[in-house]
Amino acid sequence: MRKHIVAGNWKMNNTFEEADELISNIVDALEEKELDRNTQVIICPPFPYLEMATDYSKDSYFLVGAQDVSTEDKGAYTGEVSAAMLKSIELEYCIVGHSERRQYHNESNAMVAKKVDQLLKNEIRPIVCCGERLEEREADKQFEVVKQQIEEGLFHLTAEQFKELVIAYEPVWAIGTGKTATPEQAQEIHAFIRNLIAEKYGKEVAEEISILYGGSCKPSNAKEIFSKTDVDGGLIGGACLKAEDFIAIAFSF
Ligand code: PEP
Repeated sequence: MRKHIVAGNWKMNNTFEEADELISNIVDALEEKELDRNTQVIICPPFPYLEMATDYSKDSYFLVGAQDVSTEDKGAYTGEVSAAMLKSIELEYCIVGHSERRQYHNESNAMVAKKVDQLLKNEIRPIVCCGERLEEREADKQFEVVKQQIEEGLFHLTAEQFKELVIAYEPVWAIGTGKTATPEQAQEIHAFIRNLIAEKYGKEVAEEISILYGGSCKPSNAKEIFSKTDVDGGLIGGACLKAEDFIAIAFSF
C-alpha cells in the first residue's frame, strides 16, 4: 500500500513563539488520537524554525521538511541554504519547485532538476511540485504543462532515485484561492502523472510513488479528494497553520 502523506507548507508565516505554539499543538493533537501507521505527517516551517521542529519531532509522530534548497553545494551564494546543511539538522524532506518559487524566483524545470539532485545526494526526500496556471487550464494545456515539468525536472533520475520522490500536483489556480480542483479533476491528473512514471520507469515504480494534491485542501474537502485512487494525500498551505485543521486533514483517509 502506498504511503499516505499530509505535508504542511507553512510558507513565510509565524514568529518563533507562534511557531513553537503551533508545533506543540500538533504534538498534542497527535498524542490525543493515534494516527494510522500508513499515514505520514510532515511539517515544513521556515528555515529559522527547522531545528526546533526536528527537536519536537523526536518525541512525536511527524517528520520535518524544508521549503526550498540551493542548487549549489556550498560557497558564495548569499542567502542560500544547502542540502548538506539541511541534512546536518536531520531533515527528511524538502519541497522543490513550488509554484510560488517558480513565479517569484523564476525557478525553472532545470533548476528543479538540480535541486532534486542536491537533495538525493544528501539523502533528503524531495517533495516535487508541479501544476498548471489558470490560463493553461483554460487553454486545456494542463497535461502538456505537467508532463513537461515532470520530464524536464525528474526524468534524468534512475528508477532507484525516482522511488525516493514524493510528487505534489498543485494547480496554481487553486493555491490560496479557496478554489479547489474537483476530486475528479485531481484524480484525472494524478492518474496521468502515474501513467507517465509507469511509461518511463515501469509500473512497479509508478505504483510506489505517493502523489499528493495541493490547492485549498481543508478538513471539509480532504476526505473526498483523498478518496480518489491516485490521490495519496495532500500538500497543505493555509489550513496547516491551525493545528486542529491540519491534523483533521491527516485523519481524512
Ligand atoms: C500550497 O501552497 O502548497 C498550498 C496548497 O496552499 P493552499 O492550501 O493555501 O492552497
